[in-house]
Amino acid sequence: MITVQNIMTPVKTVVQAGDALSRTLTLMQRNRHSCALVVDAGRVIGLLTERDLSDVLTRSLERGCLDDRPVSEVMTPEPVCLAEQTLLLDALKLARDLHIRHFPVLDEGEALVGIVTQTDMANAYIRILEHQAELVQTNQTLELASLRDPLLSVRNRRAMDLDLGRMLSQAQIQGQSMAVGLLDLDRFKSYNDYYGHLAGDRALRSVARAVEENLRQGDTLYRYGGEELLLLMPDTDLEGAWQGADRARQAVERLNIEHVVSPLGRLTLSGGVAAGRGVGAEGLIAAADRAMYQAKRDGRNQVRAARQAPVIARDDCAGSVPSE
Ligand code: GH3
Ligand code: MG
Ligand code: MG
Repeated sequence: MITVQNIMTPVKTVVQAGDALSRTLTLMQRNRHSCALVVDAGRVIGLLTERDLSDVLTRSLERGCLDDRPVSEVMTPEPVCLAEQTLLLDALKLARDLHIRHFPVLDEGEALVGIVTQTDMANAYIRILEHQAELVQTNQTLELASLRDPLLSVRNRRAMDLDLGRMLSQAQIQGQSMAVGLLDLDRFKSYNDYYGHLAGDRALRSVARAVEENLRQGDTLYRYGGEELLLLMPDTDLEGAWQGADRARQAVERLNIEHVVSPLGRLTLSGGVAAGRGVGAEGLIAAADRAMYQAKRDGRNQVRAARQAPVIARDDCAGSVPSE
């Protein structure tokens, strides 16, 4: 919490009650201060502000000569003083409510230790606002980073959870079908074992890039787990989901990444898709997962569609879509 002690300036322009106005003005000009503090026996008894000076100046102009009286006759008496620990916010409110532009600051023993002007308070407030803007920026950057997988530069599982919840609500409202596709690299453990983990990382990145480049508009790719990717496909039925996932499978096949220890000779992926209306996130993903394992059992490098609700009505499975 910022207190006036943090932002006050030491007082240089201090005059005695009996000092002449002309001497006070000279001092203010030398110190480039817009006000002077008037003390008596070490106690603040008044403040000479620009407003007081403009009154004197007006009278002097009317008379044709400077009204060089003792400063005690011109000053604003008994100014509102602040304790060092006064909060900036409270000082700002006082300044606003009482139309005060200068506050003498006193320590616990009531001794004068500084002065806080409206400019000091405005500057402190500007610094707070600047700091706040930086924090908002940093938070946005962190929030974005927390939703991305650093290795693959695609959205991560946390982002998927958020997006899927939002998309399912949207689908529910609009009566649309929502689809997911789980994609799992085939025999990736043996790829790592044979080519090394770094080569595995590179291959994983290439796969993610290839899948992403072949996404349909509206579909989003996520890293679901280690070598598992997930597609969210809003407003998509089972047939469309299968096509979307198979396009990803084909894109990886086209990369033609050598995998000599796989019976398929190159790096491939297997996929499972599920779709439905009014379905829950868990049921949808579980169904896609079951279909994906069926694709593994059927020989890999293929996409299978979930056969059953909660995901889909039977009609949706009709046609050329291979299902579990
Ligand atoms: P399957 O065809 O049945 O999916 O076989 P698999 O070998 O791919 O499956 P398994 O689950 O046995 O192995 C997955 C492998 O993926 C093991 C793990 O080391 C590897 N993997 C997971 N994440 C990463 C990663 O970030 N980088 C690398 N290089 N490898 C990863
Ligand atoms: Mg896996
Ligand atoms: Mg795998």
